[in-house]
Amino acid sequence: MKKVYPGISSGGKRFRGGVRPPESKDTSTFAISRLNSPEKVYIHLLGSAGAPSKAVVSAGERVLKGQVIAEPVGRISSFIHSPISGTVQDIKNWPHVSGKRLPAIIIANDFKDEEKPRKNLKNVQQISPSELVEIVRKSGIVGCGGAAFPTDIKLTSSSGKKIETLIINGCECEPFLTADERIIFEKPGDIIEGAKLAARALAAKNIIIALEENKGRSAEKLLRQQDSRIRCVFLPTRYPQGGEKQLIFAVTGRIVPAGGLPADAGCVVLNVQTACALYDALFNGKVLYERVVTLGGLFRKPGNLVIASGTRLTDIIEFRGGIPDEVDKVIMGGPMMGVAVDNLDVPASKATSGILLMKAADAPDYECIRCLRCASVCPMNLVPRQSYFLYMKGRAYEDAVHCMECGACGYSCPSGIPLVQYLKWSKEKLKNVSSAAGR
Ligand code: SF4
Ligand code: SF4
Repeated sequence: MKKVYPGISSGGKRFRGGVRPPESKDTSTFAISRLNSPEKVYIHLLGSAGAPSKAVVSAGERVLKGQVIAEPVGRISSFIHSPISGTVQDIKNWPHVSGKRLPAIIIANDFKDEEKPRKNLKNVQQISPSELVEIVRKSGIVGCGGAAFPTDIKLTSSSGKKIETLIINGCECEPFLTADERIIFEKPGDIIEGAKLAARALAAKNIIIALEENKGRSAEKLLRQQDSRIRCVFLPTRYPQGGEKQLIFAVTGRIVPAGGLPADAGCVVLNVQTACALYDALFNGKVLYERVVTLGGLFRKPGNLVIASGTRLTDIIEFRGGIPDEVDKVIMGGPMMGVAVDNLDVPASKATSGILLMKAADAPDYECIRCLRCASVCPMNLVPRQSYFLYMKGRAYEDAVHCMECGACGYSCPSGIPLVQYLKWSKEKLKNVSSAAGR
């Protein structure tokens, strides 16, 4: 029988489509620990969604942990801080998760762990909403759910649009990933305080913490901390329940218009780890230079670890026992939305929610049997098979612009067609056509 948690409402509206892959969340019982500090960190200047930041340090310069090493360029960009103390060795192109080589600051660790003195903050309750947003900006906080959108923009971009509801996203619907669940279990008070600060910046009336039903154990801890202003809701365990549009619909029944933002539905969504980063910045003066990452799949030593931004995959894997023989792919992120990387020099970043060591799927047979399962599970009402057929003809699938790259279609395809790959190709092609036309 389903356990009932007093104080948590169940249900929510069911979004269209979606899938229920096996959860494989064995790491949810592993307490958060810390990965060894690497000899060097490789920190890309593209530290968030938007424009790359500008380096403000140069080769040979000594830096402290928490010191600003790059500043934002333009409105959507972010501050970047050093996660270690040491010496800037170089600024040069380095492998990035996108497959490109992008400019990165390389810092050699002196293992002294000297931190830049944290600012003495005045009473948090006396800070005005605009000061609060400025601290978030200067602390380099970006969305920890994977998109790395600068959080200060989320807390202000709603100018002119009234935000009624702040939703704290604790769904973590990707299989294998459990970092958010551990944070809910270990730091429920920080999440709640962080959420209250964000709600103050937004002047939001309601705060809702959304969890999938498989997180009952963590929810009990959260409930002990719960504040009367905050409501917790349990949603069905269904992928992609944590997608912003699906979550807003499930929790409020509101629809974010096509091409619109959560603010258009009166909502802002923040991940639980982002709420904790807010708490750390406002109460502890700590900037964001590390995060909790799930190491899952075939890792010899799996778990949930605090990892410094800029730590290379090769170092992470070596620190955790090396790569087992049976592994033939390394994924950054979850198995549904993550990216397979073939260069282990790629570093983890503020956007890295998980690193998975996996076996390759059996050789796929790319024959489309026209079953249309891909369309039936698509939460955005697309016909994903079209992206595959049009790719074969060298043409883009125009509706791909609405694709949220959740991966539900590829997961459901009985022929194993990697549909997201073709959808991404279409999006890229459409983007290039659009910029060439100067639109
Ligand atoms: S088409 Fe895009 S949004 Fe639809 S299921 Fe596939 S990846 Fe998800
Ligand atoms: S699920 Fe796969 S096989 Fe079925 S229609 Fe879509 S692409 Fe074709």
